[in-house]
Amino acid sequence: AYAGPSRDEVIALRKQYVSPGVITYYREPLMVVEGHMQYVWDETGKRYLDAFAGIVTVSVGHCHPKVVEKVRAQTGELQHTTTIYLHPALPQFAEALAAKMPEGLSRSYFTNSGSEANEIAILSAREYTGNTDVIALRNCYHGGTATTMGLTAHGTWKFKANQAPGIHHTHAGYCYRCPYGLEYPSCDLKCARDIEDVIKYQTPGEVACFIGEPIQGVGGAVTPPKEYFQIVYDIVRRYGGICIADEVQGGFGRTGTHYWSHQNWDVVPDAITMAKGIGNGIPLGAFTTTEAISEVMTRRVHFNTYGGNPISMTQGLATLEVIDEDGLQQNSLEVGGHLKDRLHELADKHSAIGEVRGLGLMLGVELVTNRQTREPATQLAADVLEAMKLRNVLVGKGGLHGNTLRIKPPMCITKDDADYLVAMLDECLRDLTG
Ligand code: PMP
Repeated sequence: AYAGPSRDEVIALRKQYVSPGVITYYREPLMVVEGHMQYVWDETGKRYLDAFAGIVTVSVGHCHPKVVEKVRAQTGELQHTTTIYLHPALPQFAEALAAKMPEGLSRSYFTNSGSEANEIAILSAREYTGNTDVIALRNCYHGGTATTMGLTAHGTWKFKANQAPGIHHTHAGYCYRCPYGLEYPSCDLKCARDIEDVIKYQTPGEVACFIGEPIQGVGGAVTPPKEYFQIVYDIVRRYGGICIADEVQGGFGRTGTHYWSHQNWDVVPDAITMAKGIGNGIPLGAFTTTEAISEVMTRRVHFNTYGGNPISMTQGLATLEVIDEDGLQQNSLEVGGHLKDRLHELADKHSAIGEVRGLGLMLGVELVTNRQTREPATQLAADVLEAMKLRNVLVGKGGLHGNTLRIKPPMCITKDDADYLVAMLDECLRDLTG
């Protein structure tokens, strides 16, 4: 049983010593002291189904035995020296990652977070092309450092003092809230084609890169139509840019049909950034690209003290192995498909559900106050989060209006867990809107 400080003591300590910028979920913040696979426990021993996975980080399961065992062994042997000395774990993990990549993407640079991986991606694109301008998508999230906060396109996440130059935003493929009020497919993907105007009017006519999440995470599982990324990638390449897929949330088998979420759109990016699920919860990010693009990092000296450390590399390698050994991509396909079907059934019953979207175990449920006007049900989403927690299920929320429930559990979740989640969501919606 848990024997540490009480929840109240932890809250008091945080109040006194921790930056108020470190936010918590829930009116009564939840304390989590233990985790195993798809479940976590609070300090009283109450068990929760973790359908948010530490914000899509715990890919193979909390404290997966194989991952824990490998990292425990490595921790006792060598924790850190930096990459100025050789250690086998770094190139071994890079090799394993390359084996999962589209052809041609073989060179990895390791960081400690997704923000850093995206910083390296933008830096590399600018050096490689000689261009400065970068195009990102509205409603995206790419991090909290200066450049990545600039990429991020939600006013709520952008500090006034930190406006990164050279970044432009084009429309996401967000059909439910089409900026043109059009319908797919008669819209002819106007949202995707807009990037050409952005390039022509807002840049010197040449760009460094486009960066996009194939399925938007923080943005609320926004999933564009099938032609979307082909159109965008073609245009960007015509204007000299490279295409970067941010696979921080969508990668590693989570979408079920493919290992990488971009593969659902039949495109091949020039570079991929990763974090979160890559290491099942350890600070680990990566930027993987072609041999030619990777060369630009030799133009000056770039160094990341903890990037590529033996502990993270070992945990990353063990995580990749477990995704295959435990058949987690297949499980994402099966359980995710089942869960999505069940959520669609709920939508037939509850008019507050405006749209169910996403792929595999990367799902979003957008809540509205009125199905005709599609007015965002921001308060309802917040209430549902609380009510789900009282029923022992943790989910997330996202989107500019915070009205999309985000369901992205560890990929080891079972059909029974999915059924439980849906039954609880049914109850919550009935109680809160009934
Ligand atoms: N890209 C995406 C798609 C993300 O969701 C996040 C984190 N939410 C990041 C990048 C940034 O990762 P980190 O918080 O590890 O810096």
